[in-house]
Amino acid sequence: MSAVPVEPLDALEVYESSTAACTRCRLAEGRTQVVFGAGNPHADLMFVGEAPGFHEDKNGIPFVGQAGKLLDGLLAGVGLERDDVYIANVLKCRPPGNRDPQADEIESCEPHLFRQIELIQPTVIATLGNFATKLLSGRPLGITRVHGQEQELTIAGRSVLLYPLYHPAAALYTPAMLKVLEADFARLPAILGAETSAPAPVVELVPEPAVAAPAEQLGLF
Ligand code: URA
Repeated sequence: MSAVPVEPLDALEVYESSTAACTRCRLAEGRTQVVFGAGNPHADLMFVGEAPGFHEDKNGIPFVGQAGKLLDGLLAGVGLERDDVYIANVLKCRPPGNRDPQADEIESCEPHLFRQIELIQPTVIATLGNFATKLLSGRPLGITRVHGQEQELTIAGRSVLLYPLYHPAAALYTPAMLKVLEADFARLPAILGAETSAPAPVVELVPEPAVAAPAEQLGLF
């Protein structure tokens, strides 16, 4: 009998399996499953959103609801499909009622995200919304101020371009924000193709302006 060659498990798959029973934070109690991430494990471009919602929790795949449909459309607009990129979230488990992630939940979950980045080795990380942007930039500046401004950073020990974008869920309800998101998205091919990065823009450390928005969306921009 000849031996059947067995594909070695990808390191990312091995890590994903190790997170399936994660109990690092309280969100383990209410989740259907851990939504680790999906897409090309060797992608140059990685998206990081906020947290799974109802549909993601049920399906185990990030961005499969309305915001995901918008993300698919934005990707198609720049000639990309889901399989060309990797999509993950700051939190891997759904917060009850889709409330904002809490600081201790982010802290508990961030080793998963940093390990993912370490294994995928993207050259560009597009953060979707405030939570991912603040976590990965390590700065308190909100998305309204920094969207569309790429910055070279060291993340998980490697140099990457961080490219903050509005969260698609916020853009769904705000036409002006959708226009900005589309315009920022249109620059992605150039950013991916950039061999040397532009100097990091100088950003002022001034407080975010108050934004009038429904309470449940406040975290998104
Ligand atoms: N919003 C997110 O931030 N992530 C998802 O997976 C879905 C909606």
